[in-house]
Order: sequence, then C-alpha cells, then structure tokens
Amino acid sequence: MADIIQLLPDHVANQIAAGEVVQRPASVVKELLENAIDAGATSVKLIIKEAGKTLIQVVDDGIGMSTTDARLSFERHATSKIKDAKDLFQLQTKGFRGEALASIAAISHVEMQTKTEQDEVGTHLKIEGSKFIFQEVVATPKGTSISVKNLFYNIPARRNFLKSNQVELRHVTDEFHRVALAHPKVQFVFYTNGSELFNLPSSNSKQRIVNILGSRTQEKLVPVHEETEVVKISGFICKPEFAKKSRKEQFFFVNNRFIKSPYLHHAVVAAFEGLIKSDTYPGYFLFLEVDPASIDINIHPTKTEIKFDDEHTLYALLRSTIKHSLGQFSVTPILDFEQDQNLETPYAYKDKQAVLPKVTVDTAFNPFKEKPNTSGGKSSYIPKNNAGSWEGLYVGLESQVGKNEDLNSISFESDAITGSIFEDEEKQADYGSTTFQFKRKYIVTTIKSGMLIIDQNRAHQRVLYEKFLRNITINESISQQLLFPLKLGFSEPDIAFIVEIRESLETVGFVFEKITKDTLEIVGIPPLLSESEVGTVLDQLISNHQEEYQIDGFSQNDILAKTLSKSLAVKTGVVLDSASQLALVNDLFACKEWQVSPFQKSIYITLTENNIDKKFN
Ligand code: ADP
Ligand code: MG
Repeated sequence: MADIIQLLPDHVANQIAAGEVVQRPASVVKELLENAIDAGATSVKLIIKEAGKTLIQVVDDGIGMSTTDARLSFERHATSKIKDAKDLFQLQTKGFRGEALASIAAISHVEMQTKTEQDEVGTHLKIEGSKFIFQEVVATPKGTSISVKNLFYNIPARRNFLKSNQVELRHVTDEFHRVALAHPKVQFVFYTNGSELFNLPSSNSKQRIVNILGSRTQEKLVPVHEETEVVKISGFICKPEFAKKSRKEQFFFVNNRFIKSPYLHHAVVAAFEGLIKSDTYPGYFLFLEVDPASIDINIHPTKTEIKFDDEHTLYALLRSTIKHSLGQFSVTPILDFEQDQNLETPYAYKDKQAVLPKVTVDTAFNPFKEKPNTSGGKSSYIPKNNAGSWEGLYVGLESQVGKNEDLNSISFESDAITGSIFEDEEKQADYGSTTFQFKRKYIVTTIKSGMLIIDQNRAHQRVLYEKFLRNITINESISQQLLFPLKLGFSEPDIAFIVEIRESLETVGFVFEKITKDTLEIVGIPPLLSESEVGTVLDQLISNHQEEYQIDGFSQNDILAKTLSKSLAVKTGVVLDSASQLALVNDLFACKEWQVSPFQKSIYITLTENNIDKKFN
C-alpha cells in the first residue's frame, strides 16, 4: 500500500487548533486581553459590536511589536514568552502556547496596528483566514491594537452555533470581569455597540470588585489573608447572608490567572458549612499565589484548569483561612434558617400590635355529657345545633375570628353532603374558625369532606403573584412612599436591565426619582416590601432574568411577578396569627388558580374523612 499519511497545511492545522482555543467571541476576548496584560499595558480598551460576532477590538498601551514580530506573531507556536521546556515551569505570563493569534486569524478577518517605544513608526497588517493580505507602515501610538472581524466567517456551522447576542455578551462580560479582577492596577474600558459598559480606573483589588459589581458589594466583603510557605492567600469572601443561588460571584485566581477548580471551590463551601443554606453558594474573590513550579497550567488549551502539586494541603489551608476570616469578622456563627429575618412580620399584619391570646375555660363543658344526635349523621360527636357546650373549647379563638361570627354557622364533617364532588367544595369550604398553623409551615383548615393542609409559603406566593400580575396588566400601581430617597448602587449592565423593565417595575409600585449609570434613587416601593429588602429583591430580579427563567420564554412581566411573589411571600418558619391565617386562606381561594404556586408546585394536600377513617381501621 502506498504511503497515505501527510502533514496538514498550516492553515488547516490552525483551523483545527482554533476549534480548541476559540469556542465563541468570549474566547477571543480572553486571549486578546491576556496578550495586552502580558505586554505590560497600563490601560486596555475593549470594543465589541454585536456581542463580538462582528467586531472584537482590543487596544493596549503595552510594549508593542517590531515589524518582524508583528508578522511572526500570527505563526503557529510563535511566542515571545517561553524559550524552552524548562520555562514552562516558571511561567509568569498568561500566554505561552503561541497559538492564540494564529488560531484567531484562521477563522476571522484580523487587522493589527502596533508600535514599540523605540520605533519611529509602527506596522499595520491584515490577515484573513490565515491568508496574509498586506503589511504597511503606519503612524500609531506605542502599543497594540488588534481587531477581529466576522468571527467564524469561514466555518458556518460554528457561526450558526453561536447563541443570541444577549448570551454571547454575557460570556464576553464574564471574561472581561475575570481579567479585570485579576489586574486591578490596569485601567479597563469596555464599549459595546458604541456605548460604554464599564470604565474601571486603576485601583486596589477591593475597589475593582466594587467597581465591577456595584457599590453595594462593599458591605458584603470580608477580607481574607494568609501567608504560608506553600501559598499566599488573599482576597475577599462574601458574608454568608449574601450567599446566592447562582454561581456568579465565584472567582479563583492562581498567580493572577482565573482558574476553575471544583476541588478548591469545595474547600470554600466547606468553610461556610452551617452558615449558609445548602442550595446557596458563597461568593468569593480569592487570589492564590504559589510557586509557578508547583503547578501545571498546560493541561487545557484555554488554560482555565490547572494541576497543583499538593492539592490536599491547599484545600486544608484554604478552608481554615476562610473559617478564620469568617470568625475574625464576627460573622454570625449560628443562623436560624427556620426564621427568615427579613420576613418575620406575619402576613397582612405588619403594623398591628401584638395581642395576647385570651384563654378562657368553660367550666360547664363536659365532653361526656350525652346529647341527642339531631343531625342524623352516623358519627356526629358534636351536633351543630347544640354548639353551646363545646363553644368553650374555642373561646380563645373566638375573639380572633370576630365577635359577630355565628359559631353555629360552622359546618362540621358530619354535615358533609355525601357524594358531592370534592373539588367543588374547596372554594366554598367553611374554614371559618378552624384554621391553625402546624410547624410554622402549614395552615390546616377543614372543608366539608375533610382537611386541607396548605403550604403557607406557596399559598402566599400564589396570592401575591396574581396580585402583581393584575397590577401590571391593569397598570394600577399602589406605592409606598419612602421618607427619604433610597440610593442603591448597581453595576452598569444591571442598571441597563432595570431601565429596560422600568415600566413594569413602576406598575408594581416602584417609583424611581433618578437613574444614573450606576445608581438608582428610589422614592416609592411596592406596599408589601420593606425598605431593607429592596436591594435583595432587585438583585434577585436581575439574576432570575439572567438565569433560570430565561430559557422558558416567560414574559418580562411574568418574571417580575414571579420574582416579587417569591421574594415577598411569607416564608416557612414564620408564625401566623389566626387572623393572618384566615386572610391567607381566603385570599388563596379567591385566586384564579389556587391549586398550584406560580412555580407549579402543589399548594395544598387534602385528607378526606375517608382517608382518616381508614387510618383508624
Ligand atoms: P502567546 O500569548 O501564547 O505567546 P499569542 O498567539 O497570543 O501567543 O501571541 C503570540 C505573540 O505575539 C506573543 O508571544 C507576543 O510576543 C505577541 N503579542 C501578541 N499580542 C501582543 C500585544 N498585545 N502586545 C505585544 N505583543 C503581543
Ligand atoms: Mg496569548
């Protein structure tokens, strides 16, 4: 057989390599930003259009390249960062594989302008799909500007695979955050479609975090610091009460390189054990410095996974350091998850004074005194029209039910009309005086054929959800005026989102006095919301918008109503007095869909008389 193996031409090899290095616009952003950092830039500009699909440009004021280097930089395995294999163990730079520019140029239209300090003039060159187009002399400031246009223009399958601009922009922003967080001394400006999204001045690490995530982050951060022979740990963790359901605010940097490490993540989570709910994650911005010889970054083309020589020691050190920080900054060691501090106030009874329960004993009551069974039911222990003697049992409740309530009107199971359809009865249930709260979680009430056990949180979610949707649809907002305007800081993209949904927010009661690029000034809030909850609710709204609900294609109004109802609904663990219980049950059954929560979870279960009878068999 003839020889059949041949070496792939460079442009093909580059395209294959590009498949590994460049998955989406964000990958290009990462490589270009890292090159700018490696070039010693003090100021970096990122400009994108259509989430990077049509343009990604990075302009830096770094060392620049000579004419020859400019041309060479697009060759495969062309790098100035390592010379031989032993350098791999002493890496101080982000790049070293010499693949990025070659890969990017293989799948897009690239133009570069660059000049070194010493050179009088710079170089301008153009490459399209690995094909060299031209190189010419240009007047340009010191540093490098690279623009990447029409990414994947020659790989339609890849291009079609890209997600919506919104999703791709989020990936780009994530990469931008990672590089910017790792290099707070470097100034970064980020423009998208002609408008400025971030402008981060040179600062310290904490200020950088705050500039990226919004001024309210400041109060969340607890510093972390530890120096040992193996590792130097610095950075910040977020206080446990700010733990989130999303994994957005979790950053590990090893020698200033963002990395993903499930193992080290676990160490952090372990340190928070007992302080946060199991379905939430702590936020952290942790910088580890280790001897470059003790890690291997070379295991993945995008260099986000690294191997540590001594992972176990690192794990233990990280965990104890974080525990120490949590302790030192007297972050409450015991949190009562049964009680949601924000929502202690019982449903509908925010401003009411507490009333001591009145307990009266009916001395005349004798449960063994025979009474004629007038209702004719087979097992009616307490006949309806002889209520007098058992009233005593309920005197304590009477005052809460309402003085004029006719106790005789209360139906009991013995009055149940046999054979009626159970479902129909639910709405006409006579839960009058017979609600009680079980385990600060459920409200138990009777209906004609049995018992309803209602999940208080889900029931309230349903009530609020329908109410908010109604307000939004009929555009009739009721607002709670604030005495002093509430100023809240947010990141610029978050503000942009709030502006986008401003109208809907206003229909549920928010009144904005002023919105700048990074602060909200709020003068009115929804009636059920307390001032201290506003920030959290808006945060939740933003992250819900970015995550879970998006895929389901819910409308903006629906997401808003869902988020608000979820945040504001009375939680499990909150004690409800009987008036609140009753109000909640009434409100629930006045809803259009009282069976399921806005999140499609059952609100109640029923125990029929039959079910109960069976248990006694
Ligand atoms: P690597 O970063 O792994 O070395 P790249 O393909 O990203 O590989 O870049 C190749 C080379 O081009 C770099 O080693 C560097 O010498 C040069 N280079 C790339 N970008 C810049 C820049 N912004 N400023 C100066 N030199 C650069
Ligand atoms: Mg590089």
